[in-house]
Amino acid sequence: MGKYELPPLPYSYDALEPNIDARTMEIHHTKHHQTYTDKLNAALDKCPSDIQNKDIVEILSNIDQVPADQKSAINFNGGGFDNHRIFWQNMKANGGGEASGSIAAAINDSFGSFSAFKEKFSSSTVLIQGSGWGWLVYNPSSKKVEYKSMPNQTSPRTEGLIPLLGCDVWEHAYYLKYQNKRPDYISAWWNVINWQDVSERFDKAKK
Ligand code: MN
Repeated sequence: MGKYELPPLPYSYDALEPNIDARTMEIHHTKHHQTYTDKLNAALDKCPSDIQNKDIVEILSNIDQVPADQKSAINFNGGGFDNHRIFWQNMKANGGGEASGSIAAAINDSFGSFSAFKEKFSSSTVLIQGSGWGWLVYNPSSKKVEYKSMPNQTSPRTEGLIPLLGCDVWEHAYYLKYQNKRPDYISAWWNVINWQDVSERFDKAKK
């Protein structure tokens, strides 16, 4: 058995309907996230024990320490494993609305207002070429939150950034319901954001 297991969803597959459909959620979780998990475990099996003994968050944050022959596999599948477990937690039934508390103040500080943040996040994430993620991250260097687009499954952690809120824009995340209409999927995704989870990640990231 591998080091990592597919984490259960914190809600049922149909919980995010009609914004994200149950069939997409089930395939995304049981097939895509499962595959990243399995391939992460397979890559870790080929790593030296000092890497195997580290948590995946620490490995991604120090990706250059991974041996060259496994670096790409860990970057992709370790990123995929970690990104998706954040993504599930970032959403909930009856979510959405505006951020509140300390994360709301940080968003206002970086972007000017919540609506300016939403516009920046949406327009930049729509434009990601091919597969990737849009992220709200915490930058420990500037001590501010920032928007960051990442390609494929590469984690923001590989650039020293702490992921707070991610929007998966791989076609597997929306194609069954939205086909080529990525902007419609992103619009719907705002309705299911779990701001409490984002806020807790922000509070932890600042420490
Ligand atoms: Mn995905």
